[in-house]
Amino acid sequence: MKITRISVYQVDLPLEYPYWLSGGRLRFDSIDATFVKLETDEGLVGWGEGTPWGHTYLPSHGPGIRAGIETMASWVMGLDPRQVLTVERAMDLALPGHLYAKAPIDMACWDIKAQAMGMPIADAMGGGSRRPQPIASSVGAKTVAETRAVMDRYRERGYIAHSVKIGSGVDDDIARIRDVEAHRADNEIILYDCNRAWSRQEALKVMQATENLYVTFEQPCETTADIAAIRPMHAAPVSVDETLVTLEDAVKIANQGIAEVFGIKLNRVGGLTKAARIRDVALAHGIDMFVMATGGSVLADTEALHLAATVPDRHLKAVWACQDMLTYDVAPGKGPRNVQGHLNLPEEPGLGVKPDETMLGAPVAVYSA
Ligand code: MG
Repeated sequence: MKITRISVYQVDLPLEYPYWLSGGRLRFDSIDATFVKLETDEGLVGWGEGTPWGHTYLPSHGPGIRAGIETMASWVMGLDPRQVLTVERAMDLALPGHLYAKAPIDMACWDIKAQAMGMPIADAMGGGSRRPQPIASSVGAKTVAETRAVMDRYRERGYIAHSVKIGSGVDDDIARIRDVEAHRADNEIILYDCNRAWSRQEALKVMQATENLYVTFEQPCETTADIAAIRPMHAAPVSVDETLVTLEDAVKIANQGIAEVFGIKLNRVGGLTKAARIRDVALAHGIDMFVMATGGSVLADTEALHLAATVPDRHLKAVWACQDMLTYDVAPGKGPRNVQGHLNLPEEPGLGVKPDETMLGAPVAVYSA
C-alpha cells in the first residue's frame, strides 16, 4: 500500500467564548485547524488534524503545520502508511523538529493502518480500554464565587474531572484552591493549571500555603528547570504539559522526579507514534497521565481518546473535549461526543470519525505522486 495523495485543508474553528490564558495574558477567539486527507493506491483514506491552541501560547502555529507538510510531502509520498515508524523517520529526516507539523500525517497513517487491520486505532496500538473516559472541564473563572458556580454547572452535566485555571494572583489563587477543595466530591479529579504563569517564588508561596490539601499543580512555572529548582521545597504533586514535548523531555522529567503527572498533548508531541513512547516512559516511572488534543475538532479529541484508551485505567486521569468549546463542527453529529462528562471509544475501524468534506471547503494544497 502506498500514499498517493495528500490534501490539506484549513478551517478556522471559532471558540464559543474568547479564551484568556491563565493570568489574563494572551487572548484569542478562534483556532486555526489543519485537516489532512491521505489517500492510498488501495482505496483506503485516512484523516489527520493539527490544531494548535492559538499561536500565542506555544511555539506552534497553523501556517507552520501547512508549511511543514509542504516540505515533507515528497518524503512521505509513496510510503506505506501502515509502516508508521518508516513514515515517522522520513518526516524526521525531511524536517528535524517541528513535531506539531508531523502529528496530522502520523494521525492519518494510524487511521489507515487501523482500518487495514479492521479495528479501532487503540486496539491497533495494542489494546484499548472501553471505560467511558472522564472529560476534564476547563474552569477559567477568576473569583471564588465564579469558580464555584462554573464547577457546579459542569457537575450538573456529569463532569467528575476539572482543570481549574489559576495564575491570576497568588492570594486569589490560594483562596480559590481552598474553596474548591472545601467543596470537592470524593470521586473528583481536580488539577490546578497554572499554564506557566508563576515565578518560582509565586509558585512556592501557593504550593506551601496549600500543602495540607495535597493538590496537583500543572505547569506551575515557565520551564522544566524552574519546576525542578523548587521541587525540593514543597510537597505538592506536579503535572507537566507545556514543557513535555520530546521523548528526551519525558525521560529527564521522569528520571529526575520533576513531576508525578504527564499532560500528553498529541499535536505538541508529534502524534500517536511519538506520544506512545512518552506514555511508556510515564508507566515505567509510576507517572499518571492526562491525554488530550492541543485543541481542535472531534477528530483531534478522538485521536487523543485512542491513546488515552491504551493507558491502564488507573493511570489515566482524564481526557478533553475541545469540541465542546467550538461553534463550528466539521463532522456534525459524528464521532465520540460528550455523554454526561465522558467520551466513549468509537468501535469503527480506524479513527472512527471523518469530517464532512463540505464543511472543509476546497483544499489549500494537494500533493500527489
Ligand atoms: Mg495545562
